[in-house]
Amino acid sequence: MDFLRPASWEEALAAKAEHPTAVPIAGGTDVMVEINFDHRRPEYLLDLNRIGELSEWEVGQEKVRLGASVPYSSIMDHLRAELPGLALASHTVASPQIRNRGGVGGNLGTASPAGDAHPALLAADCEVEAESVRGTRLIPIDAFYTGVKRNALEPDELIRAVHIKKADGPQQYSKVGTRNAMVIAVCAFGIALHPETRTVRTGIGSAAPTPIRAKEAEDFLNAALEEGGFWENGKIITPAIVKQFAALASGACNPIDDVRGTAKYRRHAVGIMARRTLGWTWEQYRGAGRTLEGAA
Ligand SMILES: Cc1cc2nc3c(=O)[nH]c(=O)nc-3n(C[C@H](O)[C@H](O)[C@H](O)COP(=O)(O)OP(=O)(O)OC[C@H]3O[C@@H](n4cnc5c(N)ncnc54)[C@H](O)[C@@H]3O)c2cc1C
Repeated sequence: MDFLRPASWEEALAAKAEHPTAVPIAGGTDVMVEINFDHRRPEYLLDLNRIGELSEWEVGQEKVRLGASVPYSSIMDHLRAELPGLALASHTVASPQIRNRGGVGGNLGTASPAGDAHPALLAADCEVEAESVRGTRLIPIDAFYTGVKRNALEPDELIRAVHIKKADGPQQYSKVGTRNAMVIAVCAFGIALHPETRTVRTGIGSAAPTPIRAKEAEDFLNAALEEGGFWENGKIITPAIVKQFAALASGACNPIDDVRGTAKYRRHAVGIMARRTLGWTWEQYRGAGRTLEGAA
């Protein structure tokens, strides 16, 4: 196995163009596991660790441009206000050691349906900045996940950054696992309220072949909130609306039975998480100290 160590982004792109099968390595928390277990023996590893800009971020007017290798611990420490959903999701990743090494670029590279960044990215709305020697393109997050552990990157492309919409309202992330740390999600749910556009977006993890949005649930809720004037009057969302939102979120799942949980349990748990996270975010939106009617 050859180890390619580009000193700049341009060198990395050139190396990837010359060796399209080269496997990029950032934090290595997925790549090294695969190599150690002999699941993968790439001809070339492309080490991105000398490229400092991949670990930097910029906070703009409307978006955060998050370098592909910014570790989860930095998102938690520095971007909690701008990216609250992703910061909460980062908290649930593995252990401090893994959070210091792993980042969103690696999560996207692996594109596991159980990756914790995905529901938060889907709910917040973002674009993946992919680049090759041929040029740069922004891939909408909805088009990024193409199959089980598959993504929309071309063989010569690398992820440079992720452009994530800054929060304009409350966001939440909920994850079911067998314990509170060092656990891959049985299933997960992200939600983001976008009062500026009067929309709610969602993301579901580990309950379908790819990370997905609960689009029907979103459409239903967005129409119900609009019709009831909820964004203006800040009233408690009625139990019937909450129930239907949760049922539609549950119905969006297409899970499997596996060692972590059954399909039936995952569907059920996603409905519960949808109801709870809607309750938490809406309560935050309308003011502290109030609770969502009917939500237990
Ligand atoms: C003990 C343990 C616990 C874990 N727990 C969790 C957990 O709770 N939640 C969770 O979501 N994940 C978990 N993971 C998985 C892993 O930590 C995450 O997926 C992490 O985000 C990977 O980031 P990384 O930088 O280490 O990626 P790497 O391992 O370096 O790379 C991962 C993949 O992305 C590709 N890649 C990396 N950077 C780029 C780039 N710039 N452009 C294109 N492709 C790129 C690589 O080629 C590879 O295919 C765990 C891993 C371990 C070892």
